[in-house]
Amino acid sequence: MRSICYSFSTIFDKIIKRQIPAKIIYEDKHCLAFEDINPKAKIHVLVIPKEHLDRLSNATEQHINLLGNLMYAVNRVGRQLQLEGYRVVINDGQKGGQTVFHLHAHILSGENLPGFE
Ligand code: C5P
Repeated sequence: MRSICYSFSTIFDKIIKRQIPAKIIYEDKHCLAFEDINPKAKIHVLVIPKEHLDRLSNATEQHINLLGNLMYAVNRVGRQLQLEGYRVVINDGQKGGQTVFHLHAHILSGENLPGFE
């Protein structure tokens, strides 16, 4: 059984299909990465799985590979951009600040990011 998917036609699905433009900086078999259109840090990249999953909290056991591939793509982007350090953020759901319901990891870097303390 697949988890509930509310919509397959988010803006990110359109970026995957090249129906709308994006500054794509990385692609592999499973994931795509592009610059965030409204950056919240000097470097702000979004990494998305090509397979649709609306949000992290709807992942099931069947998505373990997808989640692993997503984190590995984050690693590849970090290496490709030669980032000295970065923050990875996944917003989940409206209350978690998610606005686009296609799972994505934000990579924030290029400056000294404040810690949580
Ligand atoms: O985690 P959240 O869903 O809020 O993140 C969505 C992100 O997608 C935002 O940072 C927004 O700037 C970005 N975005 C984008 N290109 C679009 C639409 C949204 O980079 N065409």
